[in-house]
Amino acid sequence: MSESNVEKVVIIGSGPAGWTAAIYAARANLAPLCVVGVPRSDPAPVLPGGQLMLTTEVENYPGFPDGIQGPEMMQKFREQAERFGTRISEADVVKCDFSKRPFKLELSEGAPVLAHSVILSTGATANWIGLKNELRLAMSGGGVSACAVCDGALPAYRNQPIAVVGGGDSAMEEASYLLKFASHVHMIIRRDSLRASKVMQARLLGNPKVTMHWFTVVADVLGEEKIEALLLEDVRTKERRNLPVKGLFLAIGHSPATKFLQGTNVELDEKGYVKLHNRDSRTNIEGVFAAGDIADAHYRQAITAAGMGCAAALDCERWLATQGVH
Ligand SMILES: Cc1cc2nc3c(=O)[nH]c(=O)nc-3n(C[C@H](O)[C@H](O)[C@H](O)COP(=O)(O)OP(=O)(O)OC[C@H]3O[C@@H](n4cnc5c(N)ncnc54)[C@H](O)[C@@H]3O)c2cc1C
Repeated sequence: MSESNVEKVVIIGSGPAGWTAAIYAARANLAPLCVVGVPRSDPAPVLPGGQLMLTTEVENYPGFPDGIQGPEMMQKFREQAERFGTRISEADVVKCDFSKRPFKLELSEGAPVLAHSVILSTGATANWIGLKNELRLAMSGGGVSACAVCDGALPAYRNQPIAVVGGGDSAMEEASYLLKFASHVHMIIRRDSLRASKVMQARLLGNPKVTMHWFTVVADVLGEEKIEALLLEDVRTKERRNLPVKGLFLAIGHSPATKFLQGTNVELDEKGYVKLHNRDSRTNIEGVFAAGDIADAHYRQAITAAGMGCAAALDCERWLATQGVH
């Protein structure tokens, strides 16, 4: 295949990290190809545009003093990337060969793509329980979320009872954060103990504003336009009861979207996130960069993902220049 058929840079993923990388790469005349992903619902919902497609009001992204709807914001990111010449492939990358250059990417639709460099920005999917009403109310702004830092401060949750599902450190962190706003926090825990560290547990256990619901799972989320209650089930007796709440926050982990990297030598950490070299955007494979939640289990915010997308495009452009690709 001739050199002209080799992309200078392919960006995989179309969340804040991918689109920001695309804006920078396009403005640097690299004519990036962005493989935006296809809608999926199993095991968790994933849409082109990323995790912000599953939320309504975004209040913490700078530049939008009145807030903006997540899907509208991602449409604006996309338009900005397209304005500077980003090309789009409506597909998933299903397989990568990084063993030799140019790299080869197999897509769910269409011919394989060859690339001098690649930016991985496929994010990490929040885990949901998988209930129909849970996702319906999450996507309609009905009081269900998978991100307390993102949504906890919204007016709907202020001085209201809310519930958090999960028993690990991140659930404790989310609950501690929500205590700033909520009148009461109900922790829904499947077992009789927490997986969280003792330090994290100490923040919540014994707090009069916190109730632990041990051996309990959420069987359904009740409410038409807004959440009104949870249908809880005792896992031992199968007894069911209603718990009135105005918010439900899922804190049952994230799954980094790295399946398409199976069979490559891209180094992942113990949780499955892409390892970055020296805290910049380089992976262990020369010419392969990563940005956003796929490489960040710590912050997981749109603004940090966008910042990492910018860094990856700048690092990538500089590396391409050393390879004589402009
Ligand atoms: C309910 C909820 C509400 C949130 N609210 C806020 C908020 O208010 N403010 C905030 O700052 N953050 C918020 N966040 C967090 C924020 O959404 C993420 O931090 C951010 O979207 C991460 O961006 P990203 O580009 O790394 O990945 P993502 O946004 O996850 O985007 C990943 C992209 O990769 C694509 N993709 C996946 N696999 C493939 C593949 N194999 N091939 C091609 N494409 C693929 C997907 O389709 C998607 O387009 C929220 C998260 C959730 C779950």
